[in-house]
Amino acid sequence: MSSITACVRFRPLSSGERRDHGDSVCIHCVDSQIFVLKDEKEEEFTFSFDKVFYENSEQAQVYEFLALPIVKDAVDAINGTIITYGQTGAGKTYSMEGPSIMVCDEQKRGLVPRIVDGLFDCIKSSEGTVKHSIKLSMVEIYMEKVRDLFDLSKDNIQIKESKAQGIVLNGVTEISVSDPAEALQTLSSGIANRTVGETQMNMSSSRSHCIYLFTVQQELKKDNRLKTGKLILVDLAGSEKAEKTGAEGKVLEEAKTINKSLSALGNVINALTCGSPGKAYHIPYRDSKLTRLLQDALGGNSRTALLCCCSPSPSNASESLSTLRFGMRAK
Ligand code: ADP
Ligand code: MG
Repeated sequence: MSSITACVRFRPLSSGERRDHGDSVCIHCVDSQIFVLKDEKEEEFTFSFDKVFYENSEQAQVYEFLALPIVKDAVDAINGTIITYGQTGAGKTYSMEGPSIMVCDEQKRGLVPRIVDGLFDCIKSSEGTVKHSIKLSMVEIYMEKVRDLFDLSKDNIQIKESKAQGIVLNGVTEISVSDPAEALQTLSSGIANRTVGETQMNMSSSRSHCIYLFTVQQELKKDNRLKTGKLILVDLAGSEKAEKTGAEGKVLEEAKTINKSLSALGNVINALTCGSPGKAYHIPYRDSKLTRLLQDALGGNSRTALLCCCSPSPSNASESLSTLRFGMRAK
C-alpha cells in the first residue's frame, strides 16, 4: 500500500483568458473533491480527487492539506515527495514558490518558504530529545542530465544507489542551514543559477524539472542513533503536448524527452497505486532520471503528494483534461 495524495488546483483566469473568453470557465464545482470538466465538444467528464482547490484557494490551504503532514514525517525520518504537474502557465511554480520564495506577503507565500518554516518549527518542538540538522541540495533535470543548481560546473551528476544511504546524487553540493532565513537565501541562489543556466543553454525553465532536496538528519540524544528523512519537492517541466504543435529540431527533442520522463513518472505512480499488498510488483523506476532520483522518496514507506495544476479556461480544456487524467493514475 502506498500513500499518494492527489489534489487539483485551478488558478484564477489570466487577463488574456478573460480578454478572449470573458468569465467563462470549463469546470463546474460539485464539492471539495468532485468537479465536472466540459471539453471543447461539450462532452462532460467527472473527476474525484483527494482535494480540489478552486480559483480562490489560498496558498496556506494548499500547504496545510498537502505539505504539512509530509513535513512532520520528514522530521521523523520518513521520506516524502511533493510534485507539481501541469501545462506551462498552469500555476506549478506559483504554488511551489509563490511570486518568489523571498516574498513576505503571508497570503502569497508558496509551499517552499512555508515548508522551510514548518521544518524548523517541527525541529524546535523536539529539541529536548533529538538533535536535528538540515542540508539542502538543488538540481535541475534537462534532457535527461542532472545539473547542480548550487554549482553549475557540476552539469552531469550521476545517480547512485547505496545500501546505507539509498539513492544518492554523486558529488552533489549539500549546504547545511541553521535557520529559515539562511535556507531561503540558499535556495534563492539556486533559483538564480537556474536562470543563468537557461541563458547559457538557450532554454526555458518550463522545459526542465526543478528539484529541491531537504535532508533532515536526527540524532537521538540518549544513544546517538542517527536517522535521516528526505523531503523532495519537484516543480515539473510543462506537460503540454508540443509534438502536436508542429515543433521541430531542439524543441521537438525537448518535448520528447519531457514526455518520456513524465510518462515514466505516471507509470511509477500507477504501479505504486495498483500493486496489491504483499505482492511483489515491478516498479519501473529506472526508465528516467526523474523516477530514479525519486526512487526512495516515492513508494515504500514514503509519502507522496501530487498537485495537478490547471487553467480553468475553456481554451485550455484539453490540456487540463490530460493533466487530470495523469492525476487519476495516482488514485
Ligand atoms: P507554471 O509554473 O505552471 O508554468 P506559473 O506558476 O508560472 O505557471 O503561473 C503562471 C501565471 O499565473 C503566473 O503569472 C502566476 O503568477 C499566475 N498564477 C498561477 N497560479 C496562481 C494563483 N493560484 N493565484 C494567482 N496567480 C496565479
Ligand atoms: Mg514554472
